[in-house]
Amino acid sequence: MSNSAQIGVTGLAVMGRNLARNFARNGYTVAVHNRTPSRTHALVAEFGDEGEFIAAETAKDFVAALERPRRLVVMVKAGEPTDAVIQEFAPLLEPGDMIIDGGNAHFADTRRRERELREQGIHFVGMGVSGGEEGALNGPSIMPGGPKESYDSLGPMLEKISAKAKDGAPCVTHVGPDGAGHFVKMVHNGIEYADMQLIGEAYQLLREVAGYSPAQIAEIFRTWNQGRLDSYLIEITAEVLAHVDAATGKPFVDVVVDQAEQKGTGRWTVQIALDLGVPVSGIAEAVFARSLSGHASLREASRHLAGPKASALSESEAAAFADRVEQALYASKIVSYTQGFHEIDAARAEYDWDIDLGAVSAIWRGGCIIRAAFLDRIRAAYDARADLPSLLSDETFAAEIAAAQDDWREVIVAATRQGVPTPGFSAALAYYDALRAERLPAALTQGQRDFFGAHTYRRVDREGSFHTLWGGDR
Ligand code: NAP
Repeated sequence: MSNSAQIGVTGLAVMGRNLARNFARNGYTVAVHNRTPSRTHALVAEFGDEGEFIAAETAKDFVAALERPRRLVVMVKAGEPTDAVIQEFAPLLEPGDMIIDGGNAHFADTRRRERELREQGIHFVGMGVSGGEEGALNGPSIMPGGPKESYDSLGPMLEKISAKAKDGAPCVTHVGPDGAGHFVKMVHNGIEYADMQLIGEAYQLLREVAGYSPAQIAEIFRTWNQGRLDSYLIEITAEVLAHVDAATGKPFVDVVVDQAEQKGTGRWTVQIALDLGVPVSGIAEAVFARSLSGHASLREASRHLAGPKASALSESEAAAFADRVEQALYASKIVSYTQGFHEIDAARAEYDWDIDLGAVSAIWRGGCIIRAAFLDRIRAAYDARADLPSLLSDETFAAEIAAAQDDWREVIVAATRQGVPTPGFSAALAYYDALRAERLPAALTQGQRDFFGAHTYRRVDREGSFHTLWGGDR
């Protein structure tokens, strides 16, 4: 077998197959391999005319097909299958070769794998890939971590196959060492959960409070997509809402079971935020909302739980309410991105990763699920001040939220009055109000902790740690 492939892809399910085709369409010779060889042959039979593929049935043939230093992309199920594949290939590789894991790995696994392979002189790149199967084929947003020197040879290839932002910049950057790429991909997914939850709440408010039909709401989302909310998720929301079920003639959203599923990256974002002590309340509410939706037995209570009487809005009131919902959605979105970037910032400090937050927002501008015009503003905020402690410290965002806050509050009041759950909007507003509060009730919490556990407290007027002898003889 000639060793002429510049890159190899093993794992040829939807993602791997499309990524391999993307490399081939961009002029690279791609070695392809899959545990079950029929997938390999099917790829070459179906898409062989798109570029140069070398089909390999065995791991040995696959490795032999790669030019040195070898670049081997693994696109298999995350977790044990990824370890199994690494164990199969690592003994066949040489120092300087590269294993690139494009799956949705947990960043702690990526850190471990990088450490283990480094001992063998193999460069391990944990690479986040977003954009689903369509993105993998036509240009994903790519978040590679790992040794910087690996990016010198891998980067130009990734830049070619990645999505391009509107200004033409490739949606890929070397994110940082070891697990940094997979960490950033994980937070991307957490933010995606929050975005989807907020859009869901906006939809429900427009339907139940304003009384609009799904088709009318689709139109409202289309209008919003022309403005500052311009994004892939808003765009596809309009498509989904406008879709009519062919079998029944009903709006598609009305024939789908209202129980959302999840694969785990949202949950990881929240679990790790808890470990890092980062308040990601909006993302957490989005994860919880999905899990609540799935608890059919809990929701049985709907039969006997009382709620407020619905009151209809006039046409003009409904239109004014829709404008307010747009404000609430935008303000809540700023908060969920603020929380997500805070989590990346905290990981940067914890793991000593040199992550450029502005560059992260720039590579999310195209290809990925949360791509949005909004990300340009986040990049501008970090360009203006790289050590921004929070996006809410940025004057532009602070001014936008200040302009939105009255409507944001009104929407939550209306939702509460009408009994429409808005955990995302409400958590975001609570976070915002907590950040602006002069005093938080945490002072009382400290008093309670000192009372029952002698945990001590700090004072506003003196340095040191204090304890009060509560109740005299305690
Ligand atoms: P998948 O369903 O997650 O995995 C199927 C692939 O894994 C097949 O090629 C399968 O080989 C291989 N595989 C499973 N266990 C294996 C083992 N023990 N040894 C060797 N190979 C094994 O495929 P996918 O949806 O294309 O996703 C691939 C990776 O990309 C995953 O980590 C996923 O989380 C990530 N990802 C997916 C998306 C998406 O939108 N789907 C987006 C971003 C990232 P066989 O054909 O032999 O069974």
